[in-house]
Amino acid sequence: AEALQIDTPDSASFSPKKSEGIWVLAETEGGMLASVTKELLGEAVALSEKLRCSVEAVLPGSGVAVLADELIAYGADRVHVLEHSSLASFIEENYARVVVALAGRYNPDILLVGATERGRGLAARVASMLHTGLTADCTQLEIDPESGLLHQIRPAFGGNLMAAIVTPNCRPQMASVRPGVMKAAEPDRSRKGEIVCHDLSDFEPDHRICLMDEMAANVCGDTLENSRIVIGVGRGVKNKETVVRIRQWAEQIGAVVAGSRAAVEMGLIDAHLQVGQTGHTISPDLYIAIGISGQIQHTAGLSGAKKIVAINPDRTAPIFNIADYGWSVSAEEALSELASVSL
Ligand code: FAD
Repeated sequence: AEALQIDTPDSASFSPKKSEGIWVLAETEGGMLASVTKELLGEAVALSEKLRCSVEAVLPGSGVAVLADELIAYGADRVHVLEHSSLASFIEENYARVVVALAGRYNPDILLVGATERGRGLAARVASMLHTGLTADCTQLEIDPESGLLHQIRPAFGGNLMAAIVTPNCRPQMASVRPGVMKAAEPDRSRKGEIVCHDLSDFEPDHRICLMDEMAANVCGDTLENSRIVIGVGRGVKNKETVVRIRQWAEQIGAVVAGSRAAVEMGLIDAHLQVGQTGHTISPDLYIAIGISGQIQHTAGLSGAKKIVAINPDRTAPIFNIADYGWSVSAEEALSELASVSL
C-alpha cells in the first residue's frame, strides 16, 4: 500500500476521498483481540446487512498483523493494519494520529470504538481531530437504512431514560460502545477478507510523550467483563473486614469482587471495579449483590447478567425486583452460612 500521509498534531485535517462502510477500531490485550472488538464486529456485521456496506477493522500496534485473520473470522471484510514500532506501547496521541490519517483517506460512514479505558480517551481524541461528534458509552446501536443514520442509544439523565442520538452532519458517525453489552458472533475461520498493511515508514511519533513504566492492575483472575461469577459489594457491607471475608469466599467459588459506586466512595472497592452506568457493564452467569439497594445507575451495568442473587436485610430494596433469588439477611449473617459453600 502507498505510504500513509500522517499529519502532525497541529495540522491534522480531514479530507475525505471516498466513503467506506462501518469501521471497528480493534483493541488488543496481551497479544489477543479484546472481547469488545469481537462484540463490535458482531454488531457491525448486523448493521452492515441493513446498510449494505462493508465492515472494516483498523488494527494499530506493533506485531499485531497476526491478528488480522482473527478479525476477518469475526466479521471484518477488510483489515487495515497500522504497524509501527512506536505503537508497541499505547500512547493515545500516536494511536489517534494514525487512525485519523487512515480515516482521512477512506472516510468511513461509521467508526465504532470500545468504551474501554483506552478506547474512551482514544475515541474522544480521534473525534476531535476529525472534527466530528462522538456519542460515548452506547449500549445499543440501530441503523436507519433510508438515511444511513446511526441511532446511538445510551442511558441519559442519570439512567432514567434511554436517549437515541443521531448525528446527521457528522462523518464518520462515531460511537464508543460499552464492553459486554453486545454479542460477539461465532468466529468463522473459513471467511475470506482483504488485509491491507499500510506503510507507516514516514510516521514520526510524538517524542514529547513517552511511556516510563507499565504496571499490571491488581485485579485477581479474569477481567470483570469476562468473569463468570461476580460478587457486587454495596454500602450495606459497611467495613473492610467484611469485604475481606467476601474476598475469601470469592476465591473459594472462583468469583471476582466488584462493587457499587457507594462501595467505591467508601473505599471498600477500587474504582476500576465499579459496576453500573459510570462503571462496567457485565454479563456474568451469576451476579451476587451483597448490601446493594439496586438503584437504576447500578443495575444499568447488569443488563447481561444471567442470574442475580440479592442479599439485603431490607425486603423492599429495589434489587429484589430484578433478582432471581433473594435472601433477606445481613451480609454478616449470609457470610457465616456461605463460608462453607463452594460452587
Ligand atoms: P445504598 O443505596 O445505600 O444501599 C445499601 C443497601 O445495603 C441498602 O439497601 C440496605 O438495606 C443494605 N444494607 C444495610 N445494612 C446491611 C447489612 N448489614 N448487610 C447487607 N445489606 C445491608 N452507582 C453505581 O453503583 N454504579 C454507577 O455506575 C453509578 N453511576 C451513577 C451515575 C450518576 C450520574 C449518579 C447520579 C449516580 C450513580 N450511581 C452509581 C450511584 C447510585 O445512584 C446509588 O447511589 C448507588 O448505586 C448506591 O449504592 P449501594 O446500593 O451500594 O448503596
